[in-house]
Amino acid sequence: MIPISADEAALATDLQFALDRGELSLAFQPKVEIASGRLTGVEALSRWSHPLHGAVEPDLFVPLAERYGLIDQLTDWLVRTGLKQWGAWKDQGLKTNLAFNVSALSLRDIYFPDYLHRLCLVEGVPPACLTIEVTEGATQHMVRLLDTLTRFRLKGMSLSLDDFGTGYSSLLQLRQLPYCELKIDRCFVREAATSRESRLIVKAVIDLAHGLGLSATAEGVEDEETLGLLAGLGCDNAQGFFIARPMQGAELAPWLIEADAARKVIPISAAAAGRS
Ligand code: C2E
Ligand code: CA
Ligand code: CA
Repeated sequence: MIPISADEAALATDLQFALDRGELSLAFQPKVEIASGRLTGVEALSRWSHPLHGAVEPDLFVPLAERYGLIDQLTDWLVRTGLKQWGAWKDQGLKTNLAFNVSALSLRDIYFPDYLHRLCLVEGVPPACLTIEVTEGATQHMVRLLDTLTRFRLKGMSLSLDDFGTGYSSLLQLRQLPYCELKIDRCFVREAATSRESRLIVKAVIDLAHGLGLSATAEGVEDEETLGLLAGLGCDNAQGFFIARPMQGAELAPWLIEADAARKVIPISAAAAGRS
């Protein structure tokens, strides 16, 4: 783990090299439909293994990339690597939705959706199999954001509003931008089973999503009790350590076989609801 005091500029230089040296990799976290337990997609999460400091958290290096002008390079690496992995899964007979976290700064480029669409054609990935996750912090340039996000939708990709409830102008964004999915931030999900207030917020967000015709996904589901509660509240999808931790691309197919076998015995929501 990297010390907080590590020199930021030096780390940014390391990150620049890391992109070329193959020190970055992707982990993938499954997302499942709560009612059936079926896989609905995976989220790509960047990992950096620093030669001296070891694992550097994306919460540290993504903002660093944003501050030091490296974010477009990181986004480019992310989508290229993710699309290649999608191809590898397809060769194994696995066709699933792949979600990318795209920084608000990269979304300022209105040509990015066309670029990603061209990459999809080159790699043989149907654009409908991609989701772009946008965090609420991306509100600053609403008009341009609307332009970029509409272009993703026109190319057939889905849009997800990430970390819902933690940023600014969430409701304004929801009304004006063409999202398909709303992800309930894990700070609310984590406490849903123990705090009445968090539970009420989670319920209100699920109802809001459905009222607007969006699907609701809870992130950070860490136990069976929470999953059962979400099932009872009508939440569509769930993601979290209880379902699966982020894994290497090659681990997804074996995980699915195991999860499928477990589901045949007892569906995930019934298992969770039965014990809550
Ligand atoms: P996020 O988009 O909200 O991603 C979910 C984060 O929650 C991931 O952390 C994941 O490992 C973690 N997580 C998943 N399930 C659970 C759970 O049950 N409990 C807990 N405590 N945590 C859980 P990670 O991988 O450290 O990523 C942190 C953030 O960094 C992400 O939050 C995302 O905003 C950002 N990020 C990661 N990769 C990229 C990237 O390639 N590009 C951009 N722009 N941002 C990225
Ligand atoms: Ca995300
Ligand atoms: Ca999130």
